[in-house]
Amino acid sequence: MSSYLRIRDLYKKFGDFTALRDVSLDVEEGEFVCFLGPSGCGKTTLLRAIAGLDLQTHGRIEQAGRDISTLPIGQRDFGIVFQSYALFPNLTIERNIAFGLENSGRSKAEVAARVTELLDLVGLADQRRKYPAQLSGGQQQRIALARAIATAPGLLLLDEPLSALDAKVRVHLRHQIKELQRKLGVTTIMVTHDQEEALSMADRIVVMNHGVIEQIGTPTEIYRAPKSLFVADFIGETNQLHATLSAPGRFSLGKLELEGMTDGLKAGQSITVTIRPEDIIPHAAGTQAAVSGGGLVEVTIDAMEFLGSFWRSRLSGAALDGEELYADFSINAVRRLALAEGAAMTIELPASRLIAFAAKSQAKDTAL
Ligand code: ATP
Repeated sequence: MSSYLRIRDLYKKFGDFTALRDVSLDVEEGEFVCFLGPSGCGKTTLLRAIAGLDLQTHGRIEQAGRDISTLPIGQRDFGIVFQSYALFPNLTIERNIAFGLENSGRSKAEVAARVTELLDLVGLADQRRKYPAQLSGGQQQRIALARAIATAPGLLLLDEPLSALDAKVRVHLRHQIKELQRKLGVTTIMVTHDQEEALSMADRIVVMNHGVIEQIGTPTEIYRAPKSLFVADFIGETNQLHATLSAPGRFSLGKLELEGMTDGLKAGQSITVTIRPEDIIPHAAGTQAAVSGGGLVEVTIDAMEFLGSFWRSRLSGAALDGEELYADFSINAVRRLALAEGAAMTIELPASRLIAFAAKSQAKDTAL
């Protein structure tokens, strides 16, 4: 079965600058996909190529089996929402939504019925006669969404739709968009640089960096099994430790010999080992037996910071040879083990959570 949206070997150049390089991607029908990456990584450029707003330099895009690579915007089948709402200020809310419908050959009565349906869908039926400036940012964005899906397009494109909104509204609208997307089953692509947004909304995330796709996967895959140091570092928080691979699955780190995930790396190679702060398991000082079969390390707690639901703790130890580790300990664990600044403790580094990559540089640093 072929995918709903099929992108192959896409390149986009602006003069000498290559904004997209060899991008290939499949999006299934009804899927919610997020393009995620740092500023300038090319996510908007990719979205604009899919919409036909800015044609790619090279490559092919198919939608529903149709080659749309060079089709003008008007002949494509998508609705789009921009960060800036882009509503017509001089038209009422209902006229804004009706705008695209009026040019689609529908009768006046059909348009009116559809506008009412859409206003109900985004929960703004009582605002229909107002003008955009009389609505809050969140409400305007819901109207922009209603307008984008008015003609029931096959593809919904969202370009940082939540970035201009304040934090509370953003979270609320995140749920609304996701719910609406599920209800309609419309294939959706959203550009965002907010990882929390991508992790909470997407079926799959496309992580981009410098114009290339670094990894495509479900939020859990991207978070738990990053395929590159960039992804491990960009998504969530992670410790980065310098080590040398001794044999497949084994490496020396400071004075320690540990087991971990070392796919694709060669013995003798300098590596960067990552572990997320929440994956470090706390034990009482002097503990000898690991619960997960991980390596045990005696450490001292240098600093602790209370972050509401957990304590972020900075750890060091003779065996770590100058490397510092950050670990997140639950309030429960802190109480149970009487963890405090200056105290000694044992930590466990589970082999399945120690993920190694080719070393980035020789400099000693942690990502936190
Ligand atoms: P942001 O989150 O900041 O919008 P982005 O990942 O969406 O970032 P793009 O807007 O796709 O990034 O831009 C990718 C790169 O291409 C950037 O380095 C940008 O400067 C460059 N670029 C984008 N549009 C043009 C243009 N019209 N002319 C020249 N360079 C451009």
